[in-house]
This record gives sequence, structure tokens and C-alpha cells, in this order.
Amino acid sequence: MASFHPTAEYEDVRAGVASVCAEYPGEYWRDLDARRAYPADFVQALIREGYLGAMIPEEYGGLGLSLTAGAVILEEIHRSGCNAAACHAQMYTMGTVLRHGSDAQKQAYLPGIADGSLRLQAFGVTEPTSGTDTLALKTTAKRDGDDYIINGQKIWISRAEHSDLMILLARTTPRDQAKSKTDGLSVFLIDLRELVGNGVEIRPIRTMINHATTEMFFENARIPASALIGEEGMGFRYILSGMNSERILIAAECIGDAKWFLKKGSDYARERVVFGKPIGANQGVQFPLARAHAHMMAAEAIVYRAAAMYDSGDNPGVEANTAKMLAADASWEAAEACLQTHGGFGFAEEYDVEFREARLYQVAPISTNLILCFIAEKVLGLPKSYGV
Ligand SMILES: Cc1cc2nc3c(=O)[nH]c(=O)nc-3n(C[C@H](O)[C@H](O)[C@H](O)COP(=O)(O)OP(=O)(O)OC[C@H]3O[C@@H](n4cnc5c(N)ncnc54)[C@H](O)[C@@H]3O)c2cc1C
Repeated sequence: MASFHPTAEYEDVRAGVASVCAEYPGEYWRDLDARRAYPADFVQALIREGYLGAMIPEEYGGLGLSLTAGAVILEEIHRSGCNAAACHAQMYTMGTVLRHGSDAQKQAYLPGIADGSLRLQAFGVTEPTSGTDTLALKTTAKRDGDDYIINGQKIWISRAEHSDLMILLARTTPRDQAKSKTDGLSVFLIDLRELVGNGVEIRPIRTMINHATTEMFFENARIPASALIGEEGMGFRYILSGMNSERILIAAECIGDAKWFLKKGSDYARERVVFGKPIGANQGVQFPLARAHAHMMAAEAIVYRAAAMYDSGDNPGVEANTAKMLAADASWEAAEACLQTHGGFGFAEEYDVEFREARLYQVAPISTNLILCFIAEKVLGLPKSYGV
């Protein structure tokens, strides 16, 4: 009988990632969480094995693998109980550089990113006043001779303190002068090493999860015109295609989280004996786990379908958004079932039923409501309920 294994060709990648992750057990993550520290050793280990450069073409020193392979790597990190949030941007920003960057930009940056001497971990889109309404962002980039001058503020820019480079979205044409409502924004690949303390300030935000997120302030920050990716004014389109890869990769992390919670919950349900029998013998304990497993499988199928479409050169907006929503729901459902199965012990840190991060994916990188708005409009043909 033919079987459906969309990631079968990456079993060796899965095994390799799992063996790296085995060196970073629950105690490692608990200690970092208590100190709100960045998992620098873990990130270095992934770089050393080439996994963070997986999607960089071989000619630039990467592994030359597909987005599907990137999704497998991130899924496996999460399935192993580790957390890729510290380093996943290196993968999802890659689509923007590879699809729209110039040869000179690729030559200048990709070899360093592949060998770990350069970190591209930050993605600067969100602003305090515009939120989800990206087209309303206010940060400006004004051309001045061979440079651009950046002014504005970004918020929730994760890993900026642990990154050498950043993909920045800024307005180059005032909104009321742009050719269309989606024109006038541009994408830049900026070098934070030169800018921090020189027009750019980064302030950490303390969050309920250990996420290394920040706000960033730009005051007359001067960047070379060569930092522009692709054509001026086309940045929103580039970012949307990059966001599809981001959504697919984050959805794969959610699938990994769901698998990890389901294994942990089922193991505990088999071992914990109350009223003279394992709690997992009760349907009231089994069913939430089984239901969460079914939802995880359905989400997994759409995640890898979206990844395959992206790899074939498409921009699968509907599939990527659907995958992100279903996978985020599945991971939260699995987290809830795992927590409930553990009873009181689910609240003890040493049991590692860490559901806080799983909740984040209902909100970021895009909230569930906005995905539903998008599907309602683009698939069902309903009136647009957001934006202009
Ligand atoms: C830990 C963390 C890390 C992040 N990392 C990054 C990063 O690295 N880079 C980056 O650029 N951003 C990052 N973000 C930002 C994230 O993408 C945004 O928080 C998210 O897109 C939502 O924007 P907002 O918080 O401003 O919510 P808002 O836009 O203010 O929305 C608030 C609520 O209202 C709902 N809502 C708004 N408009 C509508 C509507 N028309 N219809 C229905 N519901 C609506 C939303 O769904 C949401 O639930 C991060 C956020 C967090 C929390």
C-alpha cells in the first residue's frame, strides 16, 4: 500500500537534529528561563551542524535544502522539547534574501551566515502604533546621496540583541504619494553592529516567556543605499512572500510542540496510577489526548502541503496562513491536554509542561483573527473587514 510521508526524504536530518537536541535537556531550558538568558550554546550547536544554514545554497556554504527541510528541522527541535524561537528567524528571513536580494548582497552575507560568523536573527516589521496594520507603519527611510536615513520605532523585535544583521521594513514614499496602497514600503538588510549606539537603540522587553524580544528606536540612523533589497517601494510584496515562509516554519514548530506535549501527556497517563489503575485507562483522560492527536495530524498535512507549494516557487498565502492557524490551535490543544493529564504536577517546573510558548502562536507572528479575516476575504469572497 502506498503511504504518505511528505518528509520521508529528511529522516537523516530529523535524526541529526534530535541528536543535537538530546544534549540540551529540560534542566538547560529551566536554568535559562530562570535567568531570562539566551540559549547561545544551543544556537551555536545548531550552526556548527549546519542546520541554521540549511536553506542557504551550497555555493554560499549552506546545505542548499528546501523550506520543507527547514520545517523538518524546526519541527524536530520542538518535538525534542527544545525551543527554536531563539534562532528561527535565520531561516524565515532567508526567503527574502534568496528571492529578492542581489548577487552582491548574497555574496556579502550568505557565506558568513552559513558559517556562523554573521547572525541574521532579527526581523523588524511591527510598530507600536500600527500593530497588525503593517501598511500604516511610520518608520521612514529617506534617500540622502548614497545613503538612506532611518527614523522611527519598532516593537517586539525579537533577538535584536543577539543578531548582527536585521531585515527592516520602512516607508520610502509617503502613504498619500504612493502609486497604490501596497507601494511605498521598502526592505533593507541592515548591519546592527555599525548602528547600535550610532542612531539605533535597543531596549529589551521583559515578557512572560523567555523570548529575547525588544523595542528599537531609530534616530537619523544612516545606512548605505546598498542595504536596499530589490526595488525601492516593493517591500510590502517581498515581506508578504517572506511571511509565507515564516508562517510555514512557525507552523512546523507548533507541530513539533504538539507531538512533544502528546508524548509527554501519554507517557504520564500510562505511568500515573490513581484509584488503582493508570489514569490513561479512563476515557476522560484518553479522549482529549486522542482528539488533539487527530487535530495535529490534520494540521501537519497542510503544513507540509504549504511547504511543498512554496518550494515549487508558489506564494501559497492561503495554505501558509491556514497551516499556521491550524498548527497553532493543535499545539495549544495538545498543551492543554498534557497539562490537564498531569493534574497538579503539570504546574511543577521540573515536569516541563511548558505551555506558555504554545499560547504565543495564537497572537504572533500573525493573530488568529487576522488569518480568519484573510481566508474570509480571499477564499470565501466576503467583504474585506480590515485595512483600507
Ligand atoms: C513575543 C513576541 C515576539 C514577536 N516578535 C516579532 C518580531 O521579531 N518582529 C516583528 O516585526 N514583530 C514581532 N512580534 C509582533 C507580532 O507579530 C504582533 O504582536 C502581532 O502581529 C499582533 O500585533 P499587535 O500586538 O500590535 O496587535 P494589534 O494589531 O493591536 O491587535 C490586537 C488584537 O486585535 C485583533 N484585531 C486587530 N484588528 C482586527 C480586525 N480588523 N479584525 C479582527 N481582529 C482584529 C488582533 O487579532 C489581536 O488579537 C512579536 C510579538 C510577540 C508578542
